[in-house]
Amino acid sequence: MKGKINFIKFIQVWGILFLVGLGLSIIAVDIIDSYRDFNFRADKIRKDFIDSNKQIAKREVERVVDHIRYKRTQSELLTRKKIKARVYEAYAIAHNIYQQNRTVESKERIQQLILDALRPIRYENGSGYYFATRLDGVEVLFADIPEMEGKNLLNMRDANGRYVIKDMIKIVKQSGEGFYEYHWTKPGAVGNNFKKISFIKRFEPFDWFIGTGLYVDDVERHIESELLSDISRIRFGKEGYIFINRFNGDALVTNGNRISGTKKLWEVFNNNPQNMKAIFKKEYNAALKPAGGYIYYSHIKLTNPDQSSPKVSFIYGIQDLQWIVGAGVYLDEVERDIISMQSQLNQRIRTEISHFVLIVVGIIGLFSLFFKLLARKVNSDMSQFITFFERAAASDEEMDTESIKFIEFRQIAESANKMTAKRKETAEALKESEQFLISIFESIQDGISVLNPDLSIRLVNGVMKKWYAENLPLEGKKCFECYHNTSEPCDPCPALRCLESGEMEMDVVPGLSDSDVQWVELFCYPIKNTATGRISGVVEFVRDITQRKQMEEEQAKIQSQLQQAQKMESIGQLAGGVAHDYNNALSVIIGFTELTMDELDPNGLLYENLSEVLKAANRAKDVTRQLLAFARRQTISPRKIDLNATVGNMLKMLRRLIGEDIDLTWLPGEDLWPVKMDPSQVDQVLANLCVNARDAIEGVGKITIETANEVFDAAYCADHEGFTPGEFVMLAVSDNGCGMQKEVLDKIFEPFFTTKDVDKGTGLGMAMVYGIVKQNNGFINAYSEPEVGTTVKIYLPRFKGKAADAPGKVTTEILIGRGETILLVEDDPATLKLTRTMLSGLGYTVLAAATPGEALNLAGKHAGEINLLVTDVIMPEMNGRELARRLRPICPGLKCMFMSGYTANVIAHHGVLDDTFRFIQKPFSKEDLAKTVRRVLDE
Ligand code: ADP
Ligand code: MG
Repeated sequence: MKGKINFIKFIQVWGILFLVGLGLSIIAVDIIDSYRDFNFRADKIRKDFIDSNKQIAKREVERVVDHIRYKRTQSELLTRKKIKARVYEAYAIAHNIYQQNRTVESKERIQQLILDALRPIRYENGSGYYFATRLDGVEVLFADIPEMEGKNLLNMRDANGRYVIKDMIKIVKQSGEGFYEYHWTKPGAVGNNFKKISFIKRFEPFDWFIGTGLYVDDVERHIESELLSDISRIRFGKEGYIFINRFNGDALVTNGNRISGTKKLWEVFNNNPQNMKAIFKKEYNAALKPAGGYIYYSHIKLTNPDQSSPKVSFIYGIQDLQWIVGAGVYLDEVERDIISMQSQLNQRIRTEISHFVLIVVGIIGLFSLFFKLLARKVNSDMSQFITFFERAAASDEEMDTESIKFIEFRQIAESANKMTAKRKETAEALKESEQFLISIFESIQDGISVLNPDLSIRLVNGVMKKWYAENLPLEGKKCFECYHNTSEPCDPCPALRCLESGEMEMDVVPGLSDSDVQWVELFCYPIKNTATGRISGVVEFVRDITQRKQMEEEQAKIQSQLQQAQKMESIGQLAGGVAHDYNNALSVIIGFTELTMDELDPNGLLYENLSEVLKAANRAKDVTRQLLAFARRQTISPRKIDLNATVGNMLKMLRRLIGEDIDLTWLPGEDLWPVKMDPSQVDQVLANLCVNARDAIEGVGKITIETANEVFDAAYCADHEGFTPGEFVMLAVSDNGCGMQKEVLDKIFEPFFTTKDVDKGTGLGMAMVYGIVKQNNGFINAYSEPEVGTTVKIYLPRFKGKAADAPGKVTTEILIGRGETILLVEDDPATLKLTRTMLSGLGYTVLAAATPGEALNLAGKHAGEINLLVTDVIMPEMNGRELARRLRPICPGLKCMFMSGYTANVIAHHGVLDDTFRFIQKPFSKEDLAKTVRRVLDE
């Protein structure tokens, strides 16, 4: 739990942080807003202040300029009045002198008196004096420069090139008096470029004009100094004053003081002349504008000469005075206001922040209190959950939802309870399914053993426990210790292989010692984690395959038997084929030999020779008959027989066959069931078996023939090789002869297998017996022990049907024909010829045909009656039966007789002709033929 945080603490901390953050944001927004508003207002105030102060400054300047203008106009008027009054005074003086002396004095004297009177008069600090000029231009009085008197000044020009005297003469000649402005010399001053305004009046008695003038600059200076003193005292606003400089930079009124003497502005403020020059330049430029203009700059204040403050001033230039008049306002006054406003704002914000802090602290307090409460409640609910979950692993106890305070938690608790219930259900289902799997596990009849990777046993089923009962309990022990009694794993161990390969591994190993389980098959399947692929163990299936092994062995045996049977079958076919052809040849040999012998004298040498031929041919016929019997191609006429009777009839003959040294015991079985068989075949079988038994006995011995009823059920047959289930009649021939080795015993039924000398054994005896037994759906077994003896047992199926009658007595007389017509059909030309000869010899009319087609043809053409059809069974175009069927419509009432060397599959019952009555087996003798033909015709 280290490094993990408490949920409620987490919420609390983040909640507080959130609150603080939110408050800070609000405050920040408020502050930013206030300052923005403040700046806006400050700008507005500043602007308004500047605007209004600019107006004030402008108004002040304009008032001053107006005043200056007014003052100036006033002073000119005054000056003109003054000089006019002076001229009138002078005129009065002159005129008075003239009046008083006109009569007494000469003109020249009077003139002198007047001039003397006027000459010394000075006014206006000495700058005012009188002058008098004759109308012809000669100067008579020039009080300032007397040297000029007496000179004609008509052509004298002032600084502006005006003919001053001429102009004056003009005025007085026209108007008698008048003002005139011009530039002139000045007393006490060098040069003639002083603006002067004069008043002149004609003094008629002498054609003079008398005048006096005043220098404008003097007047103006006078006015100026008055004006400037006045202006220097003007104050407006808080720090407002008027300043005046000349265009040339002379300071006249500066910072509300009149500057005495001539001083440049930058000389007045000499601590930073460069700055002052720059300010003056701004002033000058503004003054050049006709309506004046504002300039911005920094300048010291009257109240605080040490520090310069921002200032805006209105400047107006008075051109004729060459004055720059200005008035300004200090902008820092508004700044001071703004600063005070700002400090108020700051104060307000400080207050707000402190309020905010208080509120936040309060909220945090409340918040903490709330969380403490919440934590207590949640913890109480949580502790219920914790106890529940701690217990949940072991028990299915449910939570008490009623004691949980919060609805949400209660819902969770209900879900948890549902989960518990569900889990309980699942656990039960799991248990059930486990039980289900265990019962499957236990019901499996193979041993199952689950192994850990170290080959220790994890789990085994009941079969394993049963097999390895002495090592119980198996779990936990190593598999090799329990199952193989070894201290090391087996080599190779399929479980180890499986662990290694991850694939199914199998093995077949010998089973438990001292047990029925002789062979086991092991299947090892890896227990693989599908996700990781890791192998966590092995499931080993141990299957008892003892029975299967045995069955396999049996199967192999049966297989070999089957192969043997097939071998016999194919040999049989071969032998049968050969025998059939031999038979046909033998029929011809025998037939013609007999026919020839019929023609000969029985006592002659030729007859004797031929009878030897006949004997040999008959022997050969025996051999082929045996072969056919083996090949089951022997044509037989089975019927219901009592085997005891048949054997009993043969005993005499058999005793003869085996000789006197050998004892023959006959043990007939009681209530022996009948069998269906051709009795001649029983003869063949018994004769052969007895001959073999005789041959096996050297000297004295014993042969036992016995019969018995035997019933075999499937279980018995399963255990007994070669037996088939059912009810059988057993015929056994036993001897105590030399017996047989197994290799011999395995081959005795093969044709031509013999252990006897060439002239003694043919190897066909047992083969024939085998064929006969098989042909009658029986089976044969031979038991033999070398040096002990042999028993051959034949089992013939019990016959349950109705028996066919035994044939009647055989007549020996030769039965000849009575002129009947016989249709003879045979595909073998030699046999056809022989048979035709025989039948003709017997007195029958013979229609011989080599094919069924030809036979049909002949029958169709033949006018008379055909009494009998004698036909071979197997022919290329169609078989004998088919031919008979086809002939029937042509020859109604036609009787049929069949001949055959053997019967093939085309005949309904394999190898068995059901109608033995109308059948003759090839080869046949003339006697046999005569008998059979007569029998069929007489039927
Ligand atoms: P063959 O008698 O002409 O030899 P078989 O077919 O009758 O031919 O018998 C085959 C062989 O089986 C005999 O050569 C003999 O070795 C053996 N055999 C048959 N029957 C017996 C018997 N009863 N005892 C010992 N061997 C026998
Ligand atoms: Mg034999």
